[in-house]
Amino acid sequence: MSTQRIPLAGVIGTPIAHSRSPRLHGYWLRKYGIPGHYIPMEIASGDLEEAVRFLPRLGFVGVNVTIPHKEHVMAIADLVSDRAALIGSVNTLIFRPDGKIHGDNTDGYGFLENLRQGASDWDPKSGPAAVIGAGGAARAVLSSLIDAGAPEVRITNRTKNRAESLQQEFGQKITVYDWVQAGNMLDGAKTVVNASSLGMTGHPEMRIPLDGLGRDAVVTDLVYTPLETPLLAHAKSIGCRTVDGLGMLLYQAAPGFERWFDQKPEIDEELRRVVLG
Ligand code: NAP
Repeated sequence: MSTQRIPLAGVIGTPIAHSRSPRLHGYWLRKYGIPGHYIPMEIASGDLEEAVRFLPRLGFVGVNVTIPHKEHVMAIADLVSDRAALIGSVNTLIFRPDGKIHGDNTDGYGFLENLRQGASDWDPKSGPAAVIGAGGAARAVLSSLIDAGAPEVRITNRTKNRAESLQQEFGQKITVYDWVQAGNMLDGAKTVVNASSLGMTGHPEMRIPLDGLGRDAVVTDLVYTPLETPLLAHAKSIGCRTVDGLGMLLYQAAPGFERWFDQKPEIDEELRRVVLG
């Protein structure tokens, strides 16, 4: 962190107005009395490289990266962490004092940490995990579940070939289930993850039957608007432990904040309230 200038961080993407990251980082900056700022920046794809290379000269110590730049920014970074390379996208850039741009992806970390904090006895090794969806978020979920020792990861997606591509990429622990038989993959699953946009406000509801799900399963949803999705409400009603998706958003932000501002931030109830607005 520069001692001569007020450190700046932010989030780049387009559109950017909906991003909750400024609220989140703004809360931490105020909480820890850090004289920095976190700024949302609308940057078009054609301007991406020029903008990223110029930001350190303006006093930026790093930025978060969101849609549609998460993949393209990998080619601009001088170094990419192993986990970002595995996931295939970058959500955090660190502008190092030596001038190098470091790209990382903290989505998988946020996902795991949210489950560990939200269901304290959750053990990824205890049995198969079942993942719904095969988009960008599912990639982070899959790689982190494998990394955490899940013995098998079952996956289903409306567009089956996207799930099959992930199977080819992530290897033998992945089993693909047909979308119309998605309920079958819940038999004996110990971790269930919705990594699709189903259940989000304004999107269709999730219709996968939970009949085969045991009460010992932990169910989480990446969707956090609403905070209690129909999937979580249903899982809770049959006795499963549930973890909402807001925590993933909060935990994925922490490593970037720590690197930029030399302060490990705390995820507390007040932060949840601030981010939910
Ligand atoms: P994405 O790359 O656009 O993927 C969307 C996924 O949802 C795909 O698997 C897609 O299936 C599926 N889907 C969309 N509409 C569907 C429908 N009508 N029926 C069945 N499946 C449908 O998006 P993403 O980045 O992976 O994000 C997925 C969700 O996770 C979003 O709701 C996002 O807000 C949330 N998310 C939350 C966090 C967090 O911190 N909590 C982080 C990242 C993402 P097809 O392949 O068939 O299109």
